[in-house]
Amino acid sequence: MKICMIGTGYVGLVSGACFADLGNLVVCVDKNKEKIDMLNEGHIPIYEPGLEEIVQKNHYSKRLKFTTDINNAVKTSDLIFICVGTPTLKRKNSANLSFVFKAASEIGKNIKKFKIIVCKSTVPVSTGDKIEKIISKKAKRKNFEVVSNPEFLREGEAIRDFRFPDRIVIGTNNKNVVRKLESLYEPLIKKGAKFFVTSRRGAELIKYASNAFLATKISFINEVANLCERTGVNVEEVAIGMGLDQRIGGRFLRAGPAYGGSCFPKDTKALTVTADLFKTDLSIIKSVIKSNDKRRLLLIRRIQKILSNGVRNKRIALLGVTFKPNTDDMRESSSPSIISFLSKKKAKINYYDPSGEKKEFSKLRNVFYCKSLKNACKNVDLVIIHTEWEEFKALDFNKLYKKKKFKIYDMRNLYSPELMKKKGFQYYSIGR
Ligand code: NAD
Repeated sequence: MKICMIGTGYVGLVSGACFADLGNLVVCVDKNKEKIDMLNEGHIPIYEPGLEEIVQKNHYSKRLKFTTDINNAVKTSDLIFICVGTPTLKRKNSANLSFVFKAASEIGKNIKKFKIIVCKSTVPVSTGDKIEKIISKKAKRKNFEVVSNPEFLREGEAIRDFRFPDRIVIGTNNKNVVRKLESLYEPLIKKGAKFFVTSRRGAELIKYASNAFLATKISFINEVANLCERTGVNVEEVAIGMGLDQRIGGRFLRAGPAYGGSCFPKDTKALTVTADLFKTDLSIIKSVIKSNDKRRLLLIRRIQKILSNGVRNKRIALLGVTFKPNTDDMRESSSPSIISFLSKKKAKINYYDPSGEKKEFSKLRNVFYCKSLKNACKNVDLVIIHTEWEEFKALDFNKLYKKKKFKIYDMRNLYSPELMKKKGFQYYSIGR
């Protein structure tokens, strides 16, 4: 099939490359020329394990192209995927749909023969109706169909998630379009992915409801962890005990920092705003958002307490700053709020992240990027394990100590408190 991906970010690039790998002809479009030049030169603009190999292989075999020319890309494709960002509109908390609508208008100008327009961007319920209106205004006749196909891939595991999704959700009531998309996804359906067809609005809402539910699960266990800390109970054991109930399930029951990333914070906010517009109070999700905001402060207070309320002039190392491992994505990670607080309080912060230096910290005082974990931990008072990258999971802390013994705050519960105590470390974790 001839496919065009509009927006070559985490979603557009991963799914475009993987569609090409299934034998389709894919053209990835982005308005960011730098990004497209980079891709055409064989470099990958994001950190995503396994992606480079797939992109290079398919680019070389000419099944995958990169361009800034949206007009030609739309004209020559049958299936157009909208994969542009839908960030939070500051102050309003709703989803900023300007990129989606701009893409729709550009698609509309280039419809000569029948096209299926598939919205993969996460958009509030009823956005498909608006996309259809915009395209109708530009296109000469109704020679297109707008479908919702929300994306569920997780950064860091995106290739695996594309190849082995739990479900593929399609929102349309057009049977021909369903057949076409079923055949596009057939290789994944054959491997066990559930192909679920619903209304367009239904598909849009499934995406938001799923993310809001997962965010709720995280916030729920985070609050239980707070109670565990007061009662001497181990939250890991509570999570295991709860998760053994198949109605609950153990996944997403891991206490840690506030949830972050490019999806949960913005999607929970946008969902409550949409619900308000439809005069529905999603009070549970509103509480989740509040609880998550509070969590950022709570962990900062905990850091102060660990350092006996004296942060000034303390040297602190942060291991990992991304919101999760195997990605370079900093969107809504809790590390910027922690680091900027510590910097304001005149602490000296070293940070190390396997995905490299971050522009977010370049202007902060006393914040230093270290190229190695060893350097980051040299002569510090406290080491904070913020992101659970593999390389932080089996550290030899004795070797990392230089002259000074540091305290350890493990925000990901990677080590056993009992064992750490036995070894003589001053070790703190979450909910234990
Ligand atoms: P991103 O910011 O990484 O990429 C979006 C890209 O779209 C950018 O490169 C931008 O330059 C480009 N763009 C914007 N307007 C354009 C236009 N008119 N023409 C061409 N290119 C344009 O975003 P992302 O993380 O890939 O997310 C895209 C959508 O998918 C969002 O709605 C997001 O909520 C959703 N989503 C993201 C993830 C994830 O893990 N990142 C997972 C599931 C769903």
